[in-house]
Amino acid sequence: MSTKLVRQGLMLCLVGPVGSGKTTLSAMLLERLGGVKRSISVTTRVARPNETNGVNYFFVSREDFQGRIDRQEFFEYEEIHGNLYGTLKSTVQDALSSGIDLLLDIDIRGALNFKRHLSHQVVICFLVPPSFEVLRARVLGRGKISDEELATRLRTAGAEYAALLRCADEGALVDYLIVNDEIEDSYTKVSSIVIAERGRLSRIERSALNGLLALG
Ligand code: 5GP
Repeated sequence: MSTKLVRQGLMLCLVGPVGSGKTTLSAMLLERLGGVKRSISVTTRVARPNETNGVNYFFVSREDFQGRIDRQEFFEYEEIHGNLYGTLKSTVQDALSSGIDLLLDIDIRGALNFKRHLSHQVVICFLVPPSFEVLRARVLGRGKISDEELATRLRTAGAEYAALLRCADEGALVDYLIVNDEIEDSYTKVSSIVIAERGRLSRIERSALNGLLALG
């Protein structure tokens, strides 16, 4: 018989620039790993043709988003490329209390916000392509893209790298760095991190621990 210890849910933040492969990796984790749920953010961005409301994002107007800010419904929110993106407090609370691990595909500022407020529960994995040339090629490979859009995306990537370097200098806010050269290899690394982090003592409920360790 295996003993299932009650523990708090883990917040796994996958961050990295466009072309780092975080979307593909998120999909693989959700499909293969079990016990992981995707956090659905709210955004003012217009849905892309392959996206569904309530699945990829909750797509809302700026007025709606502002109303939610005023009612303090967000755990965190940021403006990215002219659109607002935010994670609801209710999404975070539901995951924490149910012991489900939450996968968040958010930008570095949002992830650092999570880490500052919920440090024990948050694990940040920063994904990078193997080189700047690969990053550029992956952005260009996404289909038609204007020179201006390419420049914006590379600038955002530069800002994320700068934030990562600051973290490397200042301490351990970002937990893991994954160079995403080969996707299966990266999947093995991230899934191993999740499996290991599930056993972290600080997230295991004290009552469950007392029960397990009771002698006689
Ligand atoms: P996209 O428009 O390509 O889906 O996402 C643009 C950026 O917004 C990505 O870097 C994505 O990770 C980030 N993002 C999505 N949801 C959230 C969120 O709730 N909070 C923050 N801070 N960033 C988010």
